[in-house]
Amino acid sequence: MHVIVIGGSISGAESVRALVDNPEVTSIDWFEAGDLALVQGWGANAAMHLSALAQQGVTVHNQTTVTQLNPATHSLTATTGASSQDYSYDKLILSTGSAAIELPLPGAKLDGVMSIAHRSSIFTLKKQVQNPDIKNVVIVGAGYIGVMFAEPFNQAGKHVTVVDIADQPVATNLDSEFSSQIAANMTESGVTLALGEGVQEFIGQDGHVTAVRSEKGTYPADLVIVAVGNRANTAWLQGIVDLDSRGVVKTDAYMRTSDPDILAVGDATTVNYLPTDTELRISLASNAARGGRFAGRYLGAPTRKFPGVSGTSALEVFGKFFAATGLSTVTAGKSGAAVASSFVTAPLLMADAPATMNAEIQFKLIYDPTSRRVLGAQLLSDVNVTAYINVVALAIQAKMTVEDLEYADFFFQPSLAAPINVINEAELAAN
Ligand SMILES: Cc1cc2nc3c(=O)[nH]c(=O)nc-3n(C[C@H](O)[C@H](O)[C@H](O)COP(=O)(O)OP(=O)(O)OC[C@H]3O[C@@H](n4cnc5c(N)ncnc54)[C@H](O)[C@@H]3O)c2cc1C
Repeated sequence: MHVIVIGGSISGAESVRALVDNPEVTSIDWFEAGDLALVQGWGANAAMHLSALAQQGVTVHNQTTVTQLNPATHSLTATTGASSQDYSYDKLILSTGSAAIELPLPGAKLDGVMSIAHRSSIFTLKKQVQNPDIKNVVIVGAGYIGVMFAEPFNQAGKHVTVVDIADQPVATNLDSEFSSQIAANMTESGVTLALGEGVQEFIGQDGHVTAVRSEKGTYPADLVIVAVGNRANTAWLQGIVDLDSRGVVKTDAYMRTSDPDILAVGDATTVNYLPTDTELRISLASNAARGGRFAGRYLGAPTRKFPGVSGTSALEVFGKFFAATGLSTVTAGKSGAAVASSFVTAPLLMADAPATMNAEIQFKLIYDPTSRRVLGAQLLSDVNVTAYINVVALAIQAKMTVEDLEYADFFFQPSLAAPINVINEAELAAN
């Protein structure tokens, strides 16, 4: 079987990784519109990775954009520079991901205004952190990506302003009990939070940005980072495979599109969102990676269903570790799901553990008040207990109830964990 993979980022790479181990697959063509080495972060080891791929039957087409797809003939057209060529496939995996949403505002094209398109933007921005000419940074978007970028610029002594129409940072991940604490730590660190205000204009001089104006204020800027989300990279697939109303590729539980020989994974696709059992786009690398592995392994025959996702995420930022999975009170409200919650704080270790070793964990459990099915959770601490959230992610996948987790067996060890885990405590508090 000859397979083509379009897209060289996380979902594409994990697809290829599974395809080379799939005995049904004889050869693979892998296309990436950008620079594969940059997208993959291979750096100086690029030649080594490319030669290993060639030995495994993978032909890499770097800086090559797939522009046309013809399912009827199982073929596509790819363009490198000025030349185009046709390729055929038995099975195709679309992993074309997402593109940054740009703000169509006056001044958006000024030098120094940068939309975060991709995870590889982290490498570009790391260089800007060291740039002594940048003294004022305005970040538009207080989601987890905006907040994540605020920290290194703040630590490098730049003045950072974060502007968002929302009234709390990381508001799509965390309810206000938690996000207010992230906001307080940001402010204490010297970040200006301009929340509850929309950006109206980027102001410039001699072609370079100098300030950002919102409806409430004007903030000086040598660099503007726009991190307001992304949209599926699928415009060219209109009329070729079924897309939803937002242009996202619809997939079934086997990762197949409306054409059974074309699979799709990652940011460009819908996936089953377990807490509400609806098809949503979940823009997370964890989803993209697992989807890629799954598609590469099972594309030959639809024998196994992908289990779905709960949108599990974690971040260390401004002195706090937080993690979240499934529904929050806010996202439940938006989706119309009726939820109840319990909120507890519990020590990491026993109360008599030395204070220098101990820490408080704040934990919020979200559940269905009728069925008592676990639907989500959030946690926040000064120490890294973010992996606790994976327990709840698994509970959501297994459709477990509050009672299933209430007395669940979690380890106790005086130097590592308290006898009653904070997850048990939260379930107990839900009664
Ligand atoms: C700054 C930042 C940090 C992030 N950190 C995390 C994190 O810590 N954890 C997490 O879970 N998620 C994180 N994410 C989200 C994560 O990066 C995305 O969910 C993930 O990259 C999606 O992978 P993907 O392969 O589906 O698509 P993408 O990463 O969007 O890649 C798609 C690729 O396809 C290529 N392509 C598109 N169209 C074509 C075409 N027609 N022909 C050829 N090639 C094409 C593009 O050039 C691109 O390289 C972060 C995102 C950003 C922006």
